[in-house]
Amino acid sequence: MYCDLHTHSTASDGGTPPQELPAQARAAGLAALALTDHDTAAGLPACAAAAGEVGVCFVPGIELSANRAALKPAPYTPAPGDRLGTLHLLGLFIRHDDPGLAALCRDVAQARAQRNPQIIARLNEMGLSISYDEVLALVQAQGGQVIGRPHIGQVLVAKGYAASVQDAFARYIGEGRPAYVRKDLLPPGRAIDAIHKAGGLAILAHPIQMRCADAAELEYTVKRLAEMDLDGLEVWHCDHGPAEIQAYAALAQRLGLLVSGGSDYHGPRKAVALGSQQVPVEVFEALRDVAGL
Ligand SMILES: [Zn+2]
Ligand SMILES: [Zn+2]
Repeated sequence: MYCDLHTHSTASDGGTPPQELPAQARAAGLAALALTDHDTAAGLPACAAAAGEVGVCFVPGIELSANRAALKPAPYTPAPGDRLGTLHLLGLFIRHDDPGLAALCRDVAQARAQRNPQIIARLNEMGLSISYDEVLALVQAQGGQVIGRPHIGQVLVAKGYAASVQDAFARYIGEGRPAYVRKDLLPPGRAIDAIHKAGGLAILAHPIQMRCADAAELEYTVKRLAEMDLDGLEVWHCDHGPAEIQAYAALAQRLGLLVSGGSDYHGPRKAVALGSQQVPVEVFEALRDVAGL
């Protein structure tokens, strides 16, 4: 039996409504499913209710974006064109209605609300005709709560400025591209504390996306997070190959961290299937036991 402890719904940037995920998980043969939308717990009640109906164990979760630069050896001055990487923290087994986490999500949403108009302004400066209202209309039509770059990308595709969302990122809005605006300013320690106060376990998502230069930087970074009371590492992920899975599992064991894993399913829009990481259900059971549930 397998589990999938990293998925997204239309409550953030996924393509599947939260209430439809558990039936898909069951069809994929999963015993347990976590919903980990970006910076929102809004999809959790609907997903939990549906999971109860189809008999899939449900893990209420969230994925927070934190400041990657905060974990660089000081003093950090990025070289031109340096791709810093991302630092995402999963909260698993959180209380969906925790007021502290809700306040943090509101802060993040506010920062994001300022970022998206900045991206649109840069696109306009480049001569592309796109408005914030067009992006907002698309998000509302999809029933989403959180506006992200994929939505801006979809509008660029609809208006003929890009061949695909990937193409829009490669040409305009991806890291290092002309309309890119940095985000990720949440201190990692604050994200971990908020997850703990909401009753959850803090897991470093897809360590490969931190873009560490080598194994030594990876170990340095994960140790810093462990000092901030990080609970575990996401070992299985669609971006990890067999070598990474082995390396992250060994690192977790060496540092006394838990292991987790999931597909990072975003719906039919991306070529990653729900349950495709084939994470053993024992991984879910071990996390549940530590969470005290
Ligand atoms: Zn992520
Ligand atoms: Zn994710």
